[in-house]
Order: sequence, then C-alpha cells, then structure tokens
Amino acid sequence: MIKYKLFCKECDLKFDSWFASSNEYERLKNKKLLSCHNCNSLKIEKTIMSPRLISHKSKSHEKINLVKYNKVKKTIKDYQKFIKDNFNYVGDNFAYEARSIHYNGKKKSKGIYGSASKEDLKELKEEGIDAQLIPWVDEKEN
Ligand SMILES: [Zn+2]
Repeated sequence: MIKYKLFCKECDLKFDSWFASSNEYERLKNKKLLSCHNCNSLKIEKTIMSPRLISHKSKSHEKINLVKYNKVKKTIKDYQKFIKDNFNYVGDNFAYEARSIHYNGKKKSKGIYGSASKEDLKELKEEGIDAQLIPWVDEKEN
C-alpha cells in the first residue's frame, strides 16, 4: 500500500488516498476513477513528495506562530524573572502566606508568589485579598 497526498486542481482540496501501488494510482487516474470528494472534478494531481514543497504554505504559517509564541514566551519569561527578583516564592503555601500578610499585617518587603488553586484564589478574593493570576512557563519546557 502506498499513500499519496492528492489535491484537486479545481477547488484546491487536499486529501490522502491509499493505493495498492503507484501503478494503481496511474491506472485509476487514466480511467478517470479518481475524483475530488468536494467538487467531483477529475483534475486530481499527486502532490510532490517533498516536505518542503508540500507544506510550504503551512510551514511559513507555523513559523509565524512560532515567532509569536516565542515572543509571548519571552514576555512571560521576562515577567517571571521580574517576579522572581522581586517576590518571595512560597510554593503551595500561597493562600496561607497571602492570608498571613493580609490578616497579621505582616510587613514583608517583598510580595509573594506561588501556586494556588482556583478555589483558593476565589476564597482570597472573597476575603478581599488581591491575588493576580499570571501565565507561567515551566522552565523544564526548554
Ligand atoms: Zn475539487
């Protein structure tokens, strides 16, 4: 079995199709048995099996997304660095620490950051404690 990426010259539909062999593809095409699912056109062509050519369009698109993603990621990382430099990490004790600052008037020179559940954040908010939810990139991702 051989899989070809085919495309319709009429409507530009691209689809994968399996053939017993490359000869079968030619045979079906010559017999006009290959048609587009979308517009029934018989102008079906094999796409050239070079990845660069096949996905030229989507590749550049992906690239743009990647650049965007990296930009966002960089912004988040810069933000993370700022937070790490200026806040104390309290890990899972975030809700506890936030309350102790709030209720005991504990004056800390630095703010705190850590992880908290959605419920924690909701409760803190109800208690009048302002907590910001920020996007966080796991360092291990790199
Ligand atoms: Zn078509």
